[in-house]
Amino acid sequence: MGAVKISVSEEKLNIAMLSVHSCPIGRIGSKDTGGMSIYIRELSAELGKQGHHVDVFTRAHDPTDSEIREVGQGVRLIHLRAGEVKDIRKTMVYSYLDDFASNLEDFRQSRGLSYDLIHSHYWLSGCVGRLMKELWQVPQMMMFHTLGVVKNATGIGEDEADIRIERELRMVKDCDRIIAATERERDDLINYYHTSPGRVAVVPCGVDLELFHRIDKELARCYLGLDERPTILFVGRIEALKGIDDLLRAMACLKDCERLRLMVVGGDEHSQPELGRLRKLAFSLDIGNSVDFIGMVDQQELPYYYNAADVCVIPSYYESFGLVALESLACGTPIVATRVGIIESLFKYHNAGYIVDDHEPAHLAEGIISVLSNPGLCAEIAKESRAMVASFGWMDVARDINKQYQVMLGCREVLPC
Ligand code: UDP
Repeated sequence: MGAVKISVSEEKLNIAMLSVHSCPIGRIGSKDTGGMSIYIRELSAELGKQGHHVDVFTRAHDPTDSEIREVGQGVRLIHLRAGEVKDIRKTMVYSYLDDFASNLEDFRQSRGLSYDLIHSHYWLSGCVGRLMKELWQVPQMMMFHTLGVVKNATGIGEDEADIRIERELRMVKDCDRIIAATERERDDLINYYHTSPGRVAVVPCGVDLELFHRIDKELARCYLGLDERPTILFVGRIEALKGIDDLLRAMACLKDCERLRLMVVGGDEHSQPELGRLRKLAFSLDIGNSVDFIGMVDQQELPYYYNAADVCVIPSYYESFGLVALESLACGTPIVATRVGIIESLFKYHNAGYIVDDHEPAHLAEGIISVLSNPGLCAEIAKESRAMVASFGWMDVARDINKQYQVMLGCREVLPC
């Protein structure tokens, strides 16, 4: 078929980045679009800057989107048809994966392209990647972002379907290299999915250190039109695993809670039923007037929220990484968090606020009070926290992922993780 390489130079790679269900330029903070989209967007941009060519393939979901969009130096976003061109729940996407794979192959053939490797994100893209790997005879890197078995073990929210677990188990065996975002995720892959340790490398996610920076608190509050009340912040998708119920119950445990404000950032029109339930819960706990459900906020505006807040709470039951923790610390705001994702390792080396051992609202409340009532600690964290996150720039992430591409392609020996 006379495939042509697009390589900028011999050592530069042509990468097929698969993000089937979630568009990297989609509405971040909506029901199914969050940290993974940021990850793919930022990683691809950095790989592009480093001279690689990245085609990011996602499901066409908006009829006004063009098929191909240049999104950065060397990076194209390609919308492929798979099911109706509209937003659909990610649980529906599985039935369109064969269409997606066949349209991906048509796209490649019609343009005479070839790829050096496939980088799949989440199990749905993993399924497509596995098909393409066979067809193209190139290696596949897998990043799960969340794992079905671990999610089910939390007992929170709806159980993940058996097909997801079955497919994940198969992918772990068949793919060529796995990236875990934390040591914990690597352990989960070993313990629950029986992956051999040598096949998994730990490469943490990143944070945009230019965007997320310190802004004077009063200025940030003034920008958002906030009054003097001490402010507690939650940022994230609105879903059961994020533990927002516990945060509301923790607020209700706080003495004089009417003197405080909780801002809940995140959620789009598809999150309305859950947001409605949370609003009702807040009123039934008698804290309705202290909680503002802000909805989805553009990332460019988020630094104002982190800087306006006195503490950012991450009450999650499961995070594969937890970008919000890094973003808050990059803005100098302490966190109160459960032991999820990167948080445990952050607290191993730094005092970033308060770590809570369980999901007891009273313990979360204890954490919030211990931070709010300790201005000395807050000032110290504000001073030190940039250094805590300095090694998490996206350029470093891309450099480390590229090293793992080289290992996978057999150009390098396996590096210690
Ligand atoms: N986010 C956003 N606007 C919102 C809510 C969240 O831009 O209204 C972003 C937030 O800045 C973070 C990401 O969504 O970068 C959430 O990532 P995280 O790893 O914390 O959670 P995930 O979505 O992966 O569960």
